[in-house]
Amino acid sequence: MNTTNIREKFSTLRIENRPFINGVHVKPANGRMLEKTCPADGTIIPSIYICDREDVEQAVRHAAKAFQLGHWSQKSSAEKKVILFELARLLEEEIATLAYLDTLETGRPFGNFQKDSIPKAIGALRWFTESIDKLYEHYISNARSSLSFITHEPLGVVGIITPWNDPLVIALWKITPALLMGNSVIVKPAEQSSFSTLRLAALAKQAGIPDGVLNVLTGPGEETGKAIALHPEIRGIFFTGSSEVGKLMLGYSGQSNMKKVALECGGKSAFIVSEKCDQLKTAAQTLAKNMFYNQGQICSAPSRLFVQSSVREAFLDELARELEAYVPSNPFEPSTKVGAIVSEEQYTRIQHFIRLGVDSGLNAISPGLRHEQSDGNGYYIAPTVFTDVPEQSPLATEEIFGPILVTTEFETMPEAIQLANSSKYGLAASIWSASLDEALTCAKALEAGIVHVNSYGEDDMSVPFGGIKESGLGKDKSLFAFDEYSNLKTTWIKLRTDEKQ
Ligand code: NAD
Repeated sequence: MNTTNIREKFSTLRIENRPFINGVHVKPANGRMLEKTCPADGTIIPSIYICDREDVEQAVRHAAKAFQLGHWSQKSSAEKKVILFELARLLEEEIATLAYLDTLETGRPFGNFQKDSIPKAIGALRWFTESIDKLYEHYISNARSSLSFITHEPLGVVGIITPWNDPLVIALWKITPALLMGNSVIVKPAEQSSFSTLRLAALAKQAGIPDGVLNVLTGPGEETGKAIALHPEIRGIFFTGSSEVGKLMLGYSGQSNMKKVALECGGKSAFIVSEKCDQLKTAAQTLAKNMFYNQGQICSAPSRLFVQSSVREAFLDELARELEAYVPSNPFEPSTKVGAIVSEEQYTRIQHFIRLGVDSGLNAISPGLRHEQSDGNGYYIAPTVFTDVPEQSPLATEEIFGPILVTTEFETMPEAIQLANSSKYGLAASIWSASLDEALTCAKALEAGIVHVNSYGEDDMSVPFGGIKESGLGKDKSLFAFDEYSNLKTTWIKLRTDEKQ
């Protein structure tokens, strides 16, 4: 399929943009809409509805009723598995359509959604579903006269708020364990990427999820998201997005009912290259791939490079050679690796940082844009590396969420660790060194939710994902995720041991 074919193939697709409440797509009574354009070329695409407090109220009412009825919350693990595996099958049948919807809204390459992101999202759904009847609750024999059980109990109605950069992966990392724990769910996808989550909800109903158990409300964060996070009957809010909004979530919880909060937020992850690294080329390839993939719009992108002075020149030469492969182009072209920036707002913000670097006299390495991108109506920015960036520069301290890498050289490993840990974020980090002692000493000292040694971005569903410091609270993925979507309950039983047996 070439670009024209992909556009043509889906030109007659009727895109469902109505919120999904109690098992049906409904138009909100206020009828207000948010207009949208495709970031790849500026064409107008369907608007989304703005759900207000009334819509949130309605969704919570249905979700709470569904929870009480128990048609989902009381189902056995075996019954839940049948339904969620059917959902995975239905999603698989629609991978191309879902990929089209996500590309249309985000500008990320169609091929990437089709071959990588959406299969990964379905893989997460299957992984969690497969694990649910392998989880054992705890039993403790406290004393001869007592014993207790520690069990996972559903929270009730929970809210899930997601970002735009990987819509279905992040949605299913959260929705699946929330459902498997027996909760009723209200999801608010990012306003930039709502269509695939709306389709997911319709397919969930087709698979057998009872009405009211999975609801999707669309709209801007400040209105729809805030009304969900402040709702007094919602018992948990599970958020992925910026640290700025993550902090608001903690406030909303405090202002309402002290609901449980888990946050996956921003990052400014460190990539440390020691002079003991014996694979500079592989390290440079890994850095470029993880940094410039999705135009740098990845929370865990290694956006700060620290390289030891004796290998600085050699490493930057290797890195410069890699950049050409990440020049963005039309995301509907099947061979495209890197597409457009998600929105004009994000584009303007990234350009501001580039100007800041240039105006500060920093050296920049960049292959530039190809003619067709720079002339078009979409939002395209070439991969850019600023060298010798001062520690206090906003380029080094702020999450840019675009294809901008900042580099700083260091003399000793303690200095590199101090620089890496000076960030307010703590999502991911990486150390490249052939010395096991050096690599592991550094890994132990780095403040991050995940530290990669001689690698980056490699993981699977079995390990947790989540940051520390201002990168968040709580974990996605792995069996630990189930703890987020449930309450641990203790049942203490006193035995009458004096009774004659
Ligand atoms: P964002 O914080 O602007 O928005 C995230 C979600 O929150 C959206 O659905 C938005 O509508 C909603 N929202 C915004 N303001 C709100 C408010 N006042 N009340 C309630 N909801 C509100 O983030 P974004 O621009 O969509 O995504 C980019 C950010 O997400 C980056 O900071 C990135 O690092 C982070 N992110 C983190 C992870 C992770 O796992 N740690 C993964 C992906 C993205």
